[in-house]
Amino acid sequence: MSSGEKADLGARRLVERVVAGHRQFEGGGFVVRRPFPTQRLDMIDPFLLLDEMGPADYGPGEAVGAPEHPHRGFETVTYLLEGEMEHRDSAGHQGRLGPGDVQWMTAGAGLVHSELPSKRLLEQGGRLHGFQLWVNLPRRDKAMRPRYQEIPGDRIPETETPDGLAKVRVIAGRALGTQALIETRTPIVLQDWTLKPGASVDLPLAEDHQGFVFVFSGQARVGALAAAVPEGSAAILGPGDVLALGVPDSASEPARLLLCAGIPLREPVARHGPFVMNTREEIDQAIEDYQAGRMGELGR
Ligand code: FE
Repeated sequence: MSSGEKADLGARRLVERVVAGHRQFEGGGFVVRRPFPTQRLDMIDPFLLLDEMGPADYGPGEAVGAPEHPHRGFETVTYLLEGEMEHRDSAGHQGRLGPGDVQWMTAGAGLVHSELPSKRLLEQGGRLHGFQLWVNLPRRDKAMRPRYQEIPGDRIPETETPDGLAKVRVIAGRALGTQALIETRTPIVLQDWTLKPGASVDLPLAEDHQGFVFVFSGQARVGALAAAVPEGSAAILGPGDVLALGVPDSASEPARLLLCAGIPLREPVARHGPFVMNTREEIDQAIEDYQAGRMGELGR
């Protein structure tokens, strides 16, 4: 839809709460900003975690990533804005992600992989900035064969409002009449919005979806009351079927944000590090399977 089609869409969502992301070290020592999970906010069903990786400027030999580790029972979505990463898994799958690229990895029954800065970034140094989002799988999909969807940045559909003030990269779901290429197991919306000063959009966001907006640059106004959401914070969305996003005319810079929403699974969640199952017994089984090498291992 266009920014001119605002009238009579239905219930506009409010921001229920704003959660600040905190900087912390993860994996091999890389810096992330993480709005959840925290002690106060476990998950936003069906989302289990969001990490903003960097932005970090590395000197030669300094860049770090996440060496060999397993996953089972959910999906990891990696979206890079700057820099280069290389990944490799126990089934022999490998690839490289550059600026704008997305990797949607459905871990399903399990795998072992590494996610590291590219050789070039490691040797020469440089900037790394991106995201990793964890999406839970419904019980019926937790044992599925691992699957990758890798979309290069230039194939991710991009569109903008008629006034040109709001631009969106549609990674999953639909925005402004543009459909994403990624196939998801349950309906998921993942969009990267750039809002210039003066931008104002009302987006349909289905009533059965639950989600949040994470502002990673500038400050955005979110929801029916135009709540100010500062950089590094997530705005948890209340019920409704329309989401308002904007940036005041008077702002000195654009805002950038991720919109993440999906239908909550409403299933029991048992999680232990890189394993997310429905029961404690399934977690024990995952640990046993990993330790016995049944999720595979990385060749040297
Ligand atoms: Fe991983």
